[in-house]
Amino acid sequence: MNLQERIADVERRIHEACARSGRQREDVNLIAVTKYVTLATTRHVLELGLQHIGENRWQDAKPKWEELGSLGTWHFIGHLQTNKVKDVIGKFAYIHSLDRLSLATELQKKAESLDMTVRCFLQVNVSGEESKYGLDPQELIEFVRSIKGLDRLQIIGLMTMAPFEAEPEATRPVFRGLREWRDRLNEEAILPYPLTELSMGMSNDFEVAIEEGATWIRLGSVLVGHE
Ligand SMILES: *Cc1c(COP(=O)(O)O)cnc(C)c1O
Repeated sequence: MNLQERIADVERRIHEACARSGRQREDVNLIAVTKYVTLATTRHVLELGLQHIGENRWQDAKPKWEELGSLGTWHFIGHLQTNKVKDVIGKFAYIHSLDRLSLATELQKKAESLDMTVRCFLQVNVSGEESKYGLDPQELIEFVRSIKGLDRLQIIGLMTMAPFEAEPEATRPVFRGLREWRDRLNEEAILPYPLTELSMGMSNDFEVAIEEGATWIRLGSVLVGHE
């Protein structure tokens, strides 16, 4: 399949997952993860009408952002080192990987100096895999209390990565768990606004994530391929 065919095929699968779970297509936002592909392919993705671009390392994203930055909306989805905040802030409209206090305070500081706010997802390690970044779900409520005063951060929702499973259905408890934690946080009402978003679902498991309430899915290989 070429790029256009892959996009059409993914669209069909998103529609079907929405239909199965009684959701509207427009409630699921698609992020094209371009970390495996070149600048030329990233340009092609934007030309074909996809708006949201996800990258997980600033070094790799930089040449693409410098060339194509104004043509799309950029999402930082990878682990973010505190000393890289200055590079990504103002360029990436969404940070999906806020997972510690030192990062939150650095984001606040840099956002203040630019007189802006940053939209963030809190990354949660729902599965408990040691190899994964993210907050332990048990720490989540305490963490939100600790960043409550950081007024330049707009915490729009939660993000997780499920372990790779040969049978995607096996990821369902992870996605359901993230949704339940979001609802729980909203019941606690620590922040003056509700968390509405769930960033979850990748190439292997996005249909299950949609069925469990994903509002942002992050697709690399299945959508834009590898180069
Ligand atoms: C690479 C990556 C993706 C996309 O991975 P695919 O399995 O290729 O769809 C999504 N989210 C994060 C955080 C990633 O690093």
